Amino acid sequence: MVSEKMKMLGSNRSVIRELFEYGKKRAAEVGAENIYDFSLGNPSVPAPASVEAEIERLTKAMEPTALHGYTSAQGDAGVRATIASNLVSRFSLPVKADLIYMTCGAAASLCISLKALTCEGDEFITFTPFFPEYRVFVEAAGAKLVPVKSADKTFQVDEAAFEKAITKNTKGIIVNTPNNPSGVVLNSESIAAIVRVLEKKQAEYGKPIFIITDEPYRELVYSGNPDSPFMKLYDNTILCYSYSKSLSLPGERIGYIAVSDKMADKGDVYAAVCGAGRALGYVCAPAMMQRVVAACDGQTADVSVYKKNRDILYNSLTKMGYSCVYPDGAFYLFVKTPTADAGEFSERAKKYDLLVVPADSFGVEGYVRLSYCVSTDMIERSLPSFEKLIGEYK
Ligand code: PLP
Repeated sequence: MVSEKMKMLGSNRSVIRELFEYGKKRAAEVGAENIYDFSLGNPSVPAPASVEAEIERLTKAMEPTALHGYTSAQGDAGVRATIASNLVSRFSLPVKADLIYMTCGAAASLCISLKALTCEGDEFITFTPFFPEYRVFVEAAGAKLVPVKSADKTFQVDEAAFEKAITKNTKGIIVNTPNNPSGVVLNSESIAAIVRVLEKKQAEYGKPIFIITDEPYRELVYSGNPDSPFMKLYDNTILCYSYSKSLSLPGERIGYIAVSDKMADKGDVYAAVCGAGRALGYVCAPAMMQRVVAACDGQTADVSVYKKNRDILYNSLTKMGYSCVYPDGAFYLFVKTPTADAGEFSERAKKYDLLVVPADSFGVEGYVRLSYCVSTDMIERSLPSFEKLIGEYK
């Protein structure tokens, strides 16, 4: 006997993984150079040279038992102090080292934060489109995910829809900007609307409603500077971060949680974060990587490649007649499908060896997601196929 729910999660691959596996099989048949795989969000630019240099330096400077040994459950104290001080100086956030918890990436940051907050009957709101794993993480914590539709076309916040969705059961919201899968960066009006509504509803219900801000794409912005807007504006904020995308280290599994120093219940919330990390078996994030990211915190892999890819793909596809959401961050292009059935479009795209992800599991119908963290050369070679594909609908 096993958990049916876990068996189902382990047996049903996500649509993204399905496409990725299909692409590998097709590549073996027709050659990898003939497959245009836009399925996975795996960074295509290498980590900055400083990352490799720091690994080499640490290996020489530290005793192996110290370098590879356990740190404190919540992470090395020096590492947490560096990260806290950078968050203060870079983004003016109210954070302190003893409110930071090192994790195995954003997925762990989210699972720990959700587990820490969830009581029976709790709900978490998120805006569409959203990272499909949110549903898995929220339900695993014992809560319910409540998707709220964003404004049509712009995917900014629909303030009225958001306010309507909040009930006495709302424990918090998960917000993700820059967004996977739309690439949209929330504008100042959306950010202000979220804060305004939550302040009002907290007062109305006489209880905290938390913002969990999921920021793995924080540094991947193509106009303006990276920002972490919520904790400055709203005291009940928990920041979930990961170096997977900013430093191109997704396989190293490293990130952190930061609890606002201005949160009224910060002591209890941080204790619950430590407890959830313990209960989920997430104590002591990878020790060497903790030190590497502290040394390289604030640096970014060469995102100019993503910007170039974004420009080529967005400009070419819109010229061909595709309708795309303009992505100002992350490395995803959200494309409206010329038919209402995104699954049908994705299947038809396979005929041209174009692998694009139907967005139904992201909570929005009639769109596909293209990950453009791929080689510029592949994007350029794929364009005639996109042209032929849309030709089928004309
Ligand atoms: N949140 C979002 C929005 C993501 O896109 C991802 C990964 O793609 C994650 C969380 C998980 O990130 P990590 O690989 O650091 O666990």
